[in-house]
Amino acid sequence: MKIFNTLSRRKEEFVPLEPGKVKMYVCGPTVYNFIHIGNARPMIVFDTVRRYFEYKGYEVNYVSNFTDVDDKIIKKAIEEGVESEVISRRYIEECKKDMAGMNVKPATTHPQATLEIAGMLEMIRTLIEKGHAYAAADGTVYFRTGSFKNYGKLSHKNLDELQSGFREIKVTGEEGKENPSDFVLWKPKKEGEPYWDSEWCQGRPGWHIECSVMAKKYLGDQIDIHAGGEDLIFPHHENEIAQSEAANGKPFATYWMHNAFLNIDNNGHVQKMSKSLGNFFTVREISEKYDLQVLRFFMLSAHYRSPLNFSADLIEASKNGLERILTAAERLREAAKTCKEAGMSAEEEKNAAEARKLVDKYEGAMEDDFNTADAIAAVFELVKLGNSTVSPESSSAYIECIRNFLEQLCDVLGILTERKAEQLDGEIEEMIEARQQARKAKNFALADEIRGKLLAMGIVLEDTREGVKWKRA
Ligand code: AMP
Ligand code: ZN
Repeated sequence: MKIFNTLSRRKEEFVPLEPGKVKMYVCGPTVYNFIHIGNARPMIVFDTVRRYFEYKGYEVNYVSNFTDVDDKIIKKAIEEGVESEVISRRYIEECKKDMAGMNVKPATTHPQATLEIAGMLEMIRTLIEKGHAYAAADGTVYFRTGSFKNYGKLSHKNLDELQSGFREIKVTGEEGKENPSDFVLWKPKKEGEPYWDSEWCQGRPGWHIECSVMAKKYLGDQIDIHAGGEDLIFPHHENEIAQSEAANGKPFATYWMHNAFLNIDNNGHVQKMSKSLGNFFTVREISEKYDLQVLRFFMLSAHYRSPLNFSADLIEASKNGLERILTAAERLREAAKTCKEAGMSAEEEKNAAEARKLVDKYEGAMEDDFNTADAIAAVFELVKLGNSTVSPESSSAYIECIRNFLEQLCDVLGILTERKAEQLDGEIEEMIEARQQARKAKNFALADEIRGKLLAMGIVLEDTREGVKWKRA
């Protein structure tokens, strides 16, 4: 498997630190509002990377944080006249709902910065002891960039150039810095801000130290993959490397993966979608018009390192493309219900071998730095093969074969092959079955409760001689 590594700017063969395991950290959102679809790109892309590793049999430890202490959260809390925690808790919940809608798996751990302060204080102490950090007179603690000889290795920047660049921009309140490129590890509180006690001052952590500490705590000193949007390469990830490697004395992440931006065309002017530019759509807004599966499919239609423009036409095209796949999957499910129980004919064996080749093609695309665009092209070829070769005369073995391939490949992309209504049907049938079991066990209270729940969902039951029938009211 090949991964493009931002560190080397080359595709490299993936070699895990521990055979069969992947330790992966993805920088998560700052929670002060609903997430926009630009934020959704890394979530969908790296969830797909995770799913592919799992498909290949790896055990993936996937950690993605919520940044829940930040100027923007504090600002919003002041506007609403509530504690910061009220804001962050609310938007973490909303973000999790959006993730579920996009079929992004919950991370193995979703740490929150404010619950990890002790670890941050400890890492800052280590950095001071080792001479990599210093406290200024006002209690701000800075990382000493000049003490870390590889500073700039990820963003391919040179420290001297950086320092002269920074010198141009004088930031007030940072007079205590030894060097303009030094960055904050801990800063004093301002009036009305959340704070924690420390030996330097009552204050709060800098953004970069949060991720170094959460990655260390939940994954260890060394991890396989660190990922996020390309705007995080500098300074965020560069600074994470400096902190983690200086404190732990080990290489931090083997592979650094960065997704390109989701852009939006503003009257012929292509811009990154961002909160600050005000040119964004939230995931929630999109969900009012489209099933979020369409958004997911749209994101995966481009390679993750290619910029992707969001437009009404493109999302509409994704909707149609996804529809074609779902229709094929539905047809296969229906065919499986009525087909004859039999092994494959010689002709079907030949077609099944063709299908297998398409699975190989799909895997080949995914192994080449997760080229989901080409992988989706292979899925469409499989759909075409299925549509042209499955008929009422097909054997059960052949239908199962095509159906399994299609479902597996869609599952890796996080695409559900059943439409919402069909899923609902399944759920209803399960509830009816549970009611039958309750009646058998003479638990009539439970049986009635289930009937009531179904009624609330608009489902009416009818007990007939052939069993229970249901219809929508
Ligand atoms: P933030 O909440 O701004 O810290 O962003 C959370 C994640 O979303 C980071 O990995 C960002 O790089 C990513 N991100 C933000 N805007 C975009 C965009 N327009 N396109 C792609 N990724 C983005
Ligand atoms: Zn981070």
